[in-house]
Amino acid sequence: MENKKINLTHLSKQQLQDCLVEVGEKPFRAKQIWNWIYSRGVKSFEEMTNISKEMREIFTQNFSLNRPEISQDILSSDGTRKWLVRFSDCKEVEAVFIPEETRGTLCISSQVGCTLACKFCHTGTQMLVRNLEFHEIVAQILIAKDLLNDWDKNNRKLTNIVFMGMGEPFFNYENVAKAVKILNDAEGLDLSNRKITISTSGLVPEILRCADELKTNLAISLHATNDKLRTDIMAINKKYPLKELLAACKVYNQKNPNQKITFEYVMLKDVNDQELHARELINLINRSNVNVKINLIPFNPWDGCEYGRSDIEQILKFQQILKNGGVISPIRKTRGDDVLAACGQLKSLSQREQKLRK
Ligand code: SAH
Ligand code: SF4
Repeated sequence: MENKKINLTHLSKQQLQDCLVEVGEKPFRAKQIWNWIYSRGVKSFEEMTNISKEMREIFTQNFSLNRPEISQDILSSDGTRKWLVRFSDCKEVEAVFIPEETRGTLCISSQVGCTLACKFCHTGTQMLVRNLEFHEIVAQILIAKDLLNDWDKNNRKLTNIVFMGMGEPFFNYENVAKAVKILNDAEGLDLSNRKITISTSGLVPEILRCADELKTNLAISLHATNDKLRTDIMAINKKYPLKELLAACKVYNQKNPNQKITFEYVMLKDVNDQELHARELINLINRSNVNVKINLIPFNPWDGCEYGRSDIEQILKFQQILKNGGVISPIRKTRGDDVLAACGQLKSLSQREQKLRK
């Protein structure tokens, strides 16, 4: 019986309204229910105290508010928390919560596995299994807020969202767009675009679409300063080379002067961390005239990867050259290393476990 019920957290706001009208409710109720689900985080209809008892019973008979399962909940020694989220078809993705003094960032996934196979990325070794539905993207936030006990609007633990988990968000553009709309909704989760960052390997048409439609912050996985090297480590560069990528970023800047663009630069020992690369990077930024912040990311190694992490001396030297060239580039602290929760290490553990079990 249970599975015949319509899960209201799988619906857009309009679909929710249509659904309520079908069971005899007034359309304006949709707003209240939406608020209960996305602003207060209730998981049962009994808690919806401004709805009549009769209606709550009808809702309980016809609808559910079930979340996906959490198959693992792992706390790192530095406070980072990683969840393995299991959907109804048993496919799993990871979401990572990174608490900091002034904010709490949830890193969410957009696909099971990834469409691409960048050489330095662990997720890339997992063949794409499927795109996430928009509600599966949103569910990662609902689950995180449940587990963090974070439904008090005046004292938020989860303040920022980054699409830096598993998958290439722009290969699942439609679902990501619908999810962002739900995150933005002031009557619900109320996370503004200033608090949302979409990270992409550099899909030019979707960057341009995003500039007009979603208008979130953007993180570009740059990682190399010339086409030859970038194509070698990120095959997508063949399709959208640096010149086109930078031109798209420029358009993004122009259309969204208040949104941030960050270039992510993963430091791979002896591959992209030399003085000449730092100089190339300065030139690239100056020539393209893009308003961008650089993030230097110490590479997170994983078993079987051909790359190593640049020495800290080399990273600091690289950073200094950029600084001398007028380019500021903070070094990102790696978090959650001990629970394989750091960027680029996300790959469903259970997939590995499933293999072992076979
Ligand atoms: N597919 C999107 C978003 C997910 S990857 C993208 O590529 O941008 C999130 C970030 O982690 C990207 O900047 C990616 O390049 C980086 N990353 C991947 N593997 C990494 C690793 N092993 N160490 C450090 N960062 C890594
Ligand atoms: Fe996919 Fe991003 Fe990893 Fe490349 S870096 S394989 S696009 S998740």
